[in-house]
Amino acid sequence: MIIQSDRIITKLDRITLLAGAVVIKYGRIHDVGKAATMMRKYPGHRVIRLEQAVVMPGLVNVHTHLELPLLLDHIRAENYTDWVLNLLEEKKRFTRNDYTAASHRNIASLIRSGTTTVAEICSHNASPAALSQSGLRAVIYQEIISMERTPRTVTFPRRGRSSPLIRFGLSPHSPHTVSEAVLNVVRSYADRKRLGLCMHVAETRDELLLFQRKKSGLERLYAAAGWDMTLAPKARSSFELLRRIGILNPAFLAVHAVHADDQDIALIKRSGAGIAHCPRSNHEIGVGTMPLRKFLEARIPAGLGTDSLASSPTLNLWDEMRYALRVHRRSGVTPQDIFHMATLGGARALGMDREIGSLEPGKQADIIAVPLPRRNTGDLYSDLLRETKNCIMSMVNGKIIYKEHAS
Ligand SMILES: [Zn+2]
Repeated sequence: MIIQSDRIITKLDRITLLAGAVVIKYGRIHDVGKAATMMRKYPGHRVIRLEQAVVMPGLVNVHTHLELPLLLDHIRAENYTDWVLNLLEEKKRFTRNDYTAASHRNIASLIRSGTTTVAEICSHNASPAALSQSGLRAVIYQEIISMERTPRTVTFPRRGRSSPLIRFGLSPHSPHTVSEAVLNVVRSYADRKRLGLCMHVAETRDELLLFQRKKSGLERLYAAAGWDMTLAPKARSSFELLRRIGILNPAFLAVHAVHADDQDIALIKRSGAGIAHCPRSNHEIGVGTMPLRKFLEARIPAGLGTDSLASSPTLNLWDEMRYALRVHRRSGVTPQDIFHMATLGGARALGMDREIGSLEPGKQADIIAVPLPRRNTGDLYSDLLRETKNCIMSMVNGKIIYKEHAS
């Protein structure tokens, strides 16, 4: 199959201008180049011509909880602890069917907006089945919350059927909701089974205050959950704790990292771990602004995540990109940086950059087409970020999973 278009973004800073083509064979990108050359070189192939479109790598959304429906307006709070307590209260009325219905709805919205790979945290065993039916590429981390002192009862979830598009990992929720003893068990299990780990880390300053044995809002969370405060770890910082446990490595994805100082950033850099940045969620929960520029300068693998509809208004990664640019532009972050985070950067953060994230021969054919921006300022990334809402076409593994209906 050959996809032909006005403009093709193969990789950052390498734009095939006007009339390019991507050649796809057996689910992979076989060749990329000028349309005329590709047509000559590969005669007799099925050709899809996309007019007034930009063809580009599919978006990588590195952090979601797809089982949650839109809750933001009901549970919005003044601080992190109240937001968590409101969420737990709200969840009491949900059934398994609600989580399944939300997963399907949310996946449809991811696909429509051009996400082709998603990193999902599963808490209610509903999103894996929905994802495996969807045609999306996914990393599914099973959530673990446990403050046990002697972790005899940590049960690791059974993994679903294997699929070439889905890989599994584990998500100990956060250093303040999983005891150090349990984290040690999770780490050795993940090492043995070669599973990726994902964790909310340093999202709120309260986590640091708790670990430094200062007053934080988290006492109320511990009281509500019936947890022993003495089981909360002691550490200079959340990342220092994770280093001590031996959990920081290239298979680790740290979500949020809002309260990471220069020492933490150096630790993360040395470890090879990746970062998921969710600026709209950080804003809605009021936890502060993540020092993105420093992470990018340190060349730490960093992607963008929408987080869930309990802390973000949409699952559209273009909305997240726009917001990220607005928040970080003054610190020197560019539209190209944001575009990179939403594609190859996210792939790197998930350890998948050899497979996806750019349109290069040998990579999986995860490709989207979006409308060519109406305004042309000469900076295509900036124009795309300003105007793009949804895609025209989405392909994962060489298979078209979405096509916009002609209106
Ligand atoms: Zn999250």
